[in-house]
Amino acid sequence: MDFQSLQIMQPILKNLEREGYKTPTPIQQQAIPQVLLGRDLFGCAQTGTGKTAAFAVPILQHLEENRVSGRPIRALILTPTRELAIQIFDNFRTYGKGLHQTCCVIFGGVSQNGQVQNLQRGTDVLVATPGRLNDLIGQGYIDLSQLEIFVLDEADRMLDMGFIHDVKKVIAQLPQQRQNLMFSATLPKEIRALVDSILQNPVKISV
Ligand code: AMP
Repeated sequence: MDFQSLQIMQPILKNLEREGYKTPTPIQQQAIPQVLLGRDLFGCAQTGTGKTAAFAVPILQHLEENRVSGRPIRALILTPTRELAIQIFDNFRTYGKGLHQTCCVIFGGVSQNGQVQNLQRGTDVLVATPGRLNDLIGQGYIDLSQLEIFVLDEADRMLDMGFIHDVKKVIAQLPQQRQNLMFSATLPKEIRALVDSILQNPVKISV
């Protein structure tokens, strides 16, 4: 199995090739076609399995194939830590080179000014940690009314780090009609409850 047989568009294929990716990892093989079909998905996967590309590649492809004007935020990735946020942001930039999609990253612990300036230019994809996202939503800097795809990354760590209230507050701001992707390395009962409350008829993948 190669990336081409997953129906990935040419510019993204080139970017993956440039990164030296030859074959999709198991989670990429299973997730990419389902995400492209618009299905909700739960992935039981750790960091290191290639899960970032498993969601970033089909999200970029969907956005590029269905372009809209005005640069509303169309995809939101919530992740627990600054390090993960920066990694995911870097991956979106790498996989999306040559496309028309822009990506912003916001996280706490630093001044919000530069992040707000970037947001004000407009962004198709937003990668965020939950606290800073809620702060900036509260200040009116972020409009999620046009959101199409929501990704909850490392859901179990969100829980462990005490972010679940923040996560639920974000979800309450999202349009009802949207695609949801959720990833977690473990499946405690709080996460199972979250899967049931957020995802609609999800494909479930375990790697
Ligand atoms: P992740 O699980 O998303 O943090 O990815 C782990 C590492 O694997 C990252 O350094 C990626 O760049 C790399 N990676 C992701 N997909 C592939 C692939 N299909 N082939 C080779 N490396 C990959």
